[in-house]
Amino acid sequence: MLRQVAEGVLIHESEFCQSNAVVVQGRAGVLLIDPGVLGYEMAAVANDLRELGQPVVAGFSTHPHWDHLLWDAGLGAAPRYGTARCAATIRDRLSDPGWKASVAQWIPPDIVEQVPLDLLGLITGLPAETAQIPWDGPQVRIIEHQAHAPGHASLLIEERGVLVAGDMLSDVLIPMLDLNSTAEPVEDYLAALRLLEGAAGGVDVLVPGHGSVGGADQVHARIEQDRAYVHALRDADAPSDPRIGPSATYDWVAGVHARQLQILAQKSERDGTPG
Ligand SMILES: [Zn+2]
Repeated sequence: MLRQVAEGVLIHESEFCQSNAVVVQGRAGVLLIDPGVLGYEMAAVANDLRELGQPVVAGFSTHPHWDHLLWDAGLGAAPRYGTARCAATIRDRLSDPGWKASVAQWIPPDIVEQVPLDLLGLITGLPAETAQIPWDGPQVRIIEHQAHAPGHASLLIEERGVLVAGDMLSDVLIPMLDLNSTAEPVEDYLAALRLLEGAAGGVDVLVPGHGSVGGADQVHARIEQDRAYVHALRDADAPSDPRIGPSATYDWVAGVHARQLQILAQKSERDGTPG
């Protein structure tokens, strides 16, 4: 089930939207980043880790979207972390008693029965500006930015040459901007890409939240591809982007693009600014 992508770093790719769970081996157990989506898949990861004699000693959610906030009881009771802003966002949502029911409505009907929501979002926020995940293993640097979701963290495991991008730098999904909670979603996204570019120097393996793992040659190519998309979106140009073209992996992504275009147009009309 688990596939090694670098020394001491393994992934599990879900059947749901090519979601990647990332396992980082530490001294006394593993760090599990974005554990997965389907209950039986998380249970299988828990089993694999048990067989390897590697308990989960810490969890991390890259951002406050449901498909990155799940957990299976079999994974144990390790602390689950996120950035302060990520945790505050999810705490706020969980305080609404109707929220879980609305999450269930966003999940595709064919899998909703297989997504366990009872342990959804039970994460501890790390203090703002925390530079690294606190755990006994290779240093995992937190690169926090405001693209895609509040308090989104991409993670750099420098000594393994691995960048865990979260929902950025995907080969199957376009940049999905956080159009609800930030005043400057386009600028925030471009700033995040610059941050990743600055951190990506020694990266050999890029693991996106959804999609294929990329090698060293893919890091800058995907940053450029995402930047070109965001520029086209900003300028209301038609992007030539394979992720929404005729050979796209997911046909619904073109709909996401159309919606982003429309929301940004309404926003600029409201703000009275051209473009
Ligand atoms: Zn997301």
